[in-house]
Amino acid sequence: MKNTEIEYYAQKVMFENAEDAIIVNDLSNTIVCFNPAAGRMFSLRNSDVYNSQIYKLIPAELHKEQDAVVEDLLGGKSVLHSKTTRLTSEGHSFPVSILFRPIKNSYNEVIGVIQIITDDEAERILEEKLGILTAITENIEDAIISRTLEGYINNWNKGAEKIFGYTEKEILGKPISLLIPSDKLEEEENIIDNILQGKKIESFETTRLTKVGDQVPIFFTVSAIKNKAGEIIGISEIASNVSKKKNDQEKKAILASIVENSQDAIISKTIDGLITSWNKGAEKIFGYKEQEVIGKHISIIIPPERMDEETLIIKNIRAGIKMDHFQTIRLKKNGDSVPISLTVSPVKDDNGNIIGASKVARDITSEKEAEALINVLSKRKDEFIALASHELKTPLTSLNAYLQLLEKRVAQEDKIFMKKIIKQQEKLNTLVNDLFDISKIQSGKMEFNFEKFDISQLLFEVLEPLKEANLDYDFHLDMQKGIIIKGDKIRIEQAITNLLTNAIKYSPLGSRIEIVAATTANQFTFSVKDYGFGIEPDRQQFIFNQFYTGDSIRKNSGLGLGLFITENIIKRHGGKIWVESELEKGSKFIFILPTNY
Ligand code: ADP
Repeated sequence: MKNTEIEYYAQKVMFENAEDAIIVNDLSNTIVCFNPAAGRMFSLRNSDVYNSQIYKLIPAELHKEQDAVVEDLLGGKSVLHSKTTRLTSEGHSFPVSILFRPIKNSYNEVIGVIQIITDDEAERILEEKLGILTAITENIEDAIISRTLEGYINNWNKGAEKIFGYTEKEILGKPISLLIPSDKLEEEENIIDNILQGKKIESFETTRLTKVGDQVPIFFTVSAIKNKAGEIIGISEIASNVSKKKNDQEKKAILASIVENSQDAIISKTIDGLITSWNKGAEKIFGYKEQEVIGKHISIIIPPERMDEETLIIKNIRAGIKMDHFQTIRLKKNGDSVPISLTVSPVKDDNGNIIGASKVARDITSEKEAEALINVLSKRKDEFIALASHELKTPLTSLNAYLQLLEKRVAQEDKIFMKKIIKQQEKLNTLVNDLFDISKIQSGKMEFNFEKFDISQLLFEVLEPLKEANLDYDFHLDMQKGIIIKGDKIRIEQAITNLLTNAIKYSPLGSRIEIVAATTANQFTFSVKDYGFGIEPDRQQFIFNQFYTGDSIRKNSGLGLGLFITENIIKRHGGKIWVESELEKGSKFIFILPTNY
C-alpha cells in the first residue's frame, strides 16, 4: 500500500514539475486538467477546467487534424505530432511538438486523451539564428575558420577558400599548421596558450600561407569557442585580406586625387538634384567653394531658361541613360555664363539601384572662341575664293575667245605650240571652273536644271573624246542602252568626267579602266574601276572633303576639289557616292541615283 502512495505522489510531483505542458481532455474534447507548465505555455486558468474545449488551443484550420488524432487514439494508438501549431488562450500561435496518448479505464476503454506538449519556439529561434550566422559566414569576404584544440581545422567558409585557395573539402580535418609560415608557428602557439588561459587577444597583422605557397598579409582575430558550461572546446580564427583592403584604399586614394586635380568640374548629386560633391575643377569653373554648394540644388548653376534641360537630364538618369558631351551653358557664381561640354552618368549602388548622378563639365570657352575664329577665317576664305574665281573667270573668257581666233590663223609650223597653249588653257579653265563651283556650293547658289535625258548617250559622248586623248589606257564599257534619268545633264556630265579623269590620273599608263552603267526599277548605278595606285584605308574617309589631295607628291593631284563637287552634285540629285579601294590594287568609285520619280 505504501508503494502505491509513493507512486501517486511521485506522479503528482512529476506532473506538477514537468518542463513540458501536459493537458488532459475527455472524449468530448473538454479540458479536464493541465499542469503548471501548460498553464504558462497556453495562459490557461483554473476556470478553464471543464469549461474550455481543447479546440480553443488549436488554430481553426487544424481542428480536423485534432479529430483525426482522436480517431486514432480511440483505436488505442499513441500519436506523435512532431511539428504543428497551437494557440495560447489569448490567440498567439506558436510551434509545438505533441505526443498524444489515450487514457483507458479498468475495462480498457478509452475515456480521454493526454497531450504532452513541447514548445518548439526556442528551437525555431535557435534555428533561425543559426541560419543567419551560416549565411553571414558564407557570404563574408573574410576567412572564418575554426580549429580544434589539437590544431585540426573543422570549419572553413567561402572567404577562407578565396584567401587561402583550399576548398572546404580539401582542408577539413587537416592541421592548421598548413597555413602557417614556419617562422610564425611559435606565434600561433603563444596565441593558443594565452587563449587557453582565458586571455583575450587583440586583432593583429600577420602573414599566412596560401595553397600555392604565397605569403598573404592578413588581419587576424583569434577567439575561444566555449560550450554551455563555459569550457573552451575550440578556437575560431577570422582573417581579413589586408592586401585587398590596402589595394581598395589605394584605388580610392588614386581616384580621389584624379578627381581633385582634374581641370574639369566633377560634381555628384542625388537623384533629386542636391549636390553631394564638388571638386577643385568645379570651384575654378563656377566660382563657388565646395562648402558653399554641398546640399544645395544643382539649379544654382543652371540659367533659368535652361531649366528644362535639367528635367530631361534627371529623366534620363532615372532611366539609367548616360548623356555624353552635351554642349550647353551654365552660370558662374558672379552671374557670368560659361559654355560647357557636359557628361552626366547615373551612379548606382552595389545592388544596381540608381542613387544619383555624376557630372563632368568641361569649360569650352577657349574651344568656342577658336570655333568662332575658325568660322571667321573660313568665311574670309570663302569670300576670297568667290572673288578670285570671279575675277579670274572674266579675263579667262576673253582669253578663250582670242585663242580660238588665233588657232585658225597661226602658221602650220607653230600649230604644235598652239596645241600646247590650248591644253594648258583648258587645265586653267577646269581649275577656275572648279573654284567657281566651290564658291557656289558654299553660298548655296549652285543651281540645277532638272530634265529627263538619255544617260547612256551622255556617257558615250563623254567617253569617246577621253578615249581618244588617252589611247594608252584600256577602257571597258559595260552599259545598258537607252537609260533615261532625270537630272542636270551638265552637272552629271561633270561628275562622270571627274571620276573618269581621276581613274586616268591615278593609275599607270596602259592600265585597264572598267565603266559600268546599269539601271533597275528605281535606281541608276554607275561605277568606274581602275587598277591604279589605290587609296589607304585611313585616307578614304577624307577624299570627298574640299581641298583634300592626300599624298601631295602623288603625280597629277590637283586642288582636291573634284570629288567634293562630284559628291555635292550626286547628293543634290538624291543619290549617294562612295569608294572601294585597296592600296596598289586600284579603286572603284560608285554612285547611285534614284529613278523612281
Ligand atoms: P584632285 O584629283 O584634284 O586632287 P579630287 O577631289 O578629285 O581632287 O580627289 C581627291 C584626292 O583623292 C586625290 O588627290 C587623290 O589623292 C585621291 N583620289 C581620287 N580618285 C582616286 C583614284 N581613282 N585612285 C586613287 N586616288 C584617288
